[in-house]
Order: sequence, then structure tokens, then C-alpha cells
Amino acid sequence: MPRPADRLRRFVASALVLVPSISLVTERVAHAYCQTTLCEGGASGVRCVPATSEDCGVALTFRQGCLGYSLHNQASARVSYAEIEAAMRDAFDAWISADCGGGAAPGVRADDLGAVSCGAREYNLDAGNANIVLFHEDAWPYEGAGNTLALTTVTYGLDDGAIYDADLEINATVDLTVGSDPVAFDLASIVTHEAGHMLGLAHTPEVDATMTVQYFPGDTKLRTLHPDDEAALCASYPPRDVSTCDPTPRRGLATVCDPPPIVDDSGCGCRTALGTTSGPSAPLSLLAVGLAVASRRWARARQARP
Ligand SMILES: [Zn+2]
Repeated sequence: MPRPADRLRRFVASALVLVPSISLVTERVAHAYCQTTLCEGGASGVRCVPATSEDCGVALTFRQGCLGYSLHNQASARVSYAEIEAAMRDAFDAWISADCGGGAAPGVRADDLGAVSCGAREYNLDAGNANIVLFHEDAWPYEGAGNTLALTTVTYGLDDGAIYDADLEINATVDLTVGSDPVAFDLASIVTHEAGHMLGLAHTPEVDATMTVQYFPGDTKLRTLHPDDEAALCASYPPRDVSTCDPTPRRGLATVCDPPPIVDDSGCGCRTALGTTSGPSAPLSLLAVGLAVASRRWARARQARP
């Protein structure tokens, strides 16, 4: 009989995609956040406020309210280690500073556990782990290379939806920029959005929220949380004392890849020994549709650029 810890699945959070024009109009709603959830059969789904017909399951969260993340020590030619270190700190600071009502802070914290030499997403069943932030420097290894800015992969337990691992991969083949002069593809906006995924949040139809699926080149507004983002985080992590919780990743911090991941034909870095799903799933199928639409729009925008 497998140990409870062996019953897990990996979910690839929908990527942040580029939208080069404001031609996409999304109906505005007053409150429209969504959490990523564990649904029947172990599949990932969403639960939103207001509710939708798609809602199912329980929210994926770090059950103790502690996330310890690590940065790949190679950083990128475009973004230095110090720059991604500061960007991630600011990103998580934005989230943990959310107002849950009356000034109460959410019951979650994020700790920078320093550099790791492992530059691949993975989850180790029988060894330590790291919630890694890494760049892809030469090529984006997944679908949507022309319009995908980043991808967060969350591994969660099938029994209760506890997040075991969350890895963030950033596409450094695009014109990432740090700071505000100039701004092309704003690193701070990208990692603030992805930090929301690492904490278990899903995309929202609220176009002004950090967790919107759309990113407009030159935009910096995703750096700052929208009230819907705050409501989402507070729903996942109600206020409580997390000052003494342990941010160490599951089974201890691993600073090296152990063993190296096996990349299969689908482009998924899932290690076959994990028993994780790498084939099409409902969330991944929906993601592919969204990428295709945005990709065509992005292709036009690139041609129009000087
Ligand atoms: Zn996203």
C-alpha cells in the first residue's frame, strides 16, 4: 500500500501570456477571484467567487502557511541574481501584505532560502526538495514559446490538496526588463503573478487583477495587487500566526538536482517514477487554447515593432 505521501499529482499552472493590444475585452465583475483546487479523481480544477459551473474541490495551499523558495544560482544573462532575488522578495511581500480586513494579514509567509545549483523543476519523492525559481536562457522548452512569459508547476497531494512543491520557470528569451525605465516585459509583474500561482491561486476574469491571464507589454500594474487578488489570498490563507512555522521544503532543502529529471516527449519534466500525469488534462487543454489565441495576436505585434 503506498504511503500517503506517494499519492500526488503535478499541476502546471496556466502560463502568463502576452496580449499586445487592448482589443480583448473581458466582462468586468465586482469580485472574481479563483483558487486552484483538488477535484474528484485527483484532477486540478478551480473554485471561484462568484461561483461558476466549473467549480470543484478544495483549494491547493501550503497547509502550514509557509513557503520557502530558492533561486537558481545561475540567474540569467538578462537578470542578475541580485535582481531576481529582489524581484521575488518584492513579489511575495506584495502578497503577504494583503489586507484581509481590518488590517489583518493573511496567514502565509514566504522565505528566501537562498541559491541552489539545481536548474530544473522537479519533485523528489525520497529526497529533499526546493521550490525553485529559474530562467530558461536559450529556448523556451514548452508550447507557446513566442507568447509565454513564465510557467509555475505545482505538485500537490491527492489526499488533501496540500502543496508539496512549486517551481517557477521564467522565459528569458524575451526582452525582460527590471525597473521602470524602460519597461518591456516587466520582471516584477511576471513574478508577482507567478508568486500567486505558487501560493495556489488561479487566473481571474478580473482584467485589472495581478492574477489576470493577460499581460500587455510595457505594463507594470501586475506588480500591485487588486482587491480581488487580496480576497483570493485571504480565502486561501485566513489570518493566523505563522511566525513560527517551518518554511523548509518537503523532506528537507535540496540544493542540487537529485536525481536529474527525465524530460519526456510531451515536454513535461515529470519524472516517470512519480506516477504523475503528463498527458492532456482539462486544465492543460484549456491552457493550450488560450496560448494559441494569444500567440497569433503576439505574432502580429512583433511584426509591427520597430
Ligand atoms: Zn498565470
